[in-house]
Amino acid sequence: MEESGEFHGQAIWRPKYRCQKCSRAIKKSYTKTSGECYYCNNDLTAVGQYIDEVYAMTTYISDVEKNEFIEAIYDLKDNLEHISEFANILEQGFEDYPIADAELLVVPPSGTAESSTDNHMIAVAKEVSDRVEIPFRDIIHKREDYASQKELGLEERLDNLQGRIGCTEDSIAADKAIVIDDIATSCATVSATAQALVESGVSDVSGLVIARDEDIQSLEFANILAEVEG
Ligand SMILES: [Zn+2]
Repeated sequence: MEESGEFHGQAIWRPKYRCQKCSRAIKKSYTKTSGECYYCNNDLTAVGQYIDEVYAMTTYISDVEKNEFIEAIYDLKDNLEHISEFANILEQGFEDYPIADAELLVVPPSGTAESSTDNHMIAVAKEVSDRVEIPFRDIIHKREDYASQKELGLEERLDNLQGRIGCTEDSIAADKAIVIDDIATSCATVSATAQALVESGVSDVSGLVIARDEDIQSLEFANILAEVEG
């Protein structure tokens, strides 16, 4: 693992060896071959079609007890708390990953097709935008409402979003854009957001998320748990 920032004085960590497409932990030996995780190697991922890669600042292990950091992500969603702290973490991503030359920041849509709601990620992205001096624009919206992605598998998630995320502009004057989000699971939402940008003329879209969702099994496979437990 390597340190990637801090939250309330506690270090936050990400896997040292990560999939170059989706940021999942991978075995060290994989970095010498494809550099991709099992999912990306087998096209079981939403990354690679519209979004080139999704960079993550830390890992969220969804099948273990929630920790303070993950609770804080829920506080962010519910009460718009910790905006500045999460902006700190994402700002570091512009130093760690090759995205500082992007010309546009966006976030996935929230609310409904009829009326978008206050989006916690808009508040964070605006703060990040001020710091890295890359414009944020609120141009992504729902064309049509869709069901929650929570209980769905990858194929279902992609089907669920198909054509339902749009951009308010037909032609965007930016070659490279970054989709900022809180937690990436299948990356289907960031991919559908990237699709809307690509259809409006953006050629290069990457994602930057606070945390990448992982399960214990894949962390075990990547030898991360052995490393953490020493
Ligand atoms: Zn991957």
